[in-house]
Amino acid sequence: MDSIGAQKVIWCDNCDRDVDIGLLSPDGLCPGCDTWLADSRDGGSVPWHFWVVVVAAVIYLGWRAAQGVLWVGQQLF
Ligand SMILES: [Zn+2]
Repeated sequence: MDSIGAQKVIWCDNCDRDVDIGLLSPDGLCPGCDTWLADSRDGGSVPWHFWVVVVAAVIYLGWRAAQGVLWVGQQLF
């Protein structure tokens, strides 16, 4: 069988289905039944640029939230 890093999915006997490696817990446990399936999800389906997008979205939404708070403050005073 291929190494874990080369696989996109891994079989869970307990759930009787394929589980996407990106869905495993950080410890490599099945999300459905907590059976240990892999060492870790390193090399899983979530690429590094996904986190760039997440960070950008958090910064953007934080800025929008700050603008909203300022707007509410302007309406009150
Ligand atoms: Zn399972």
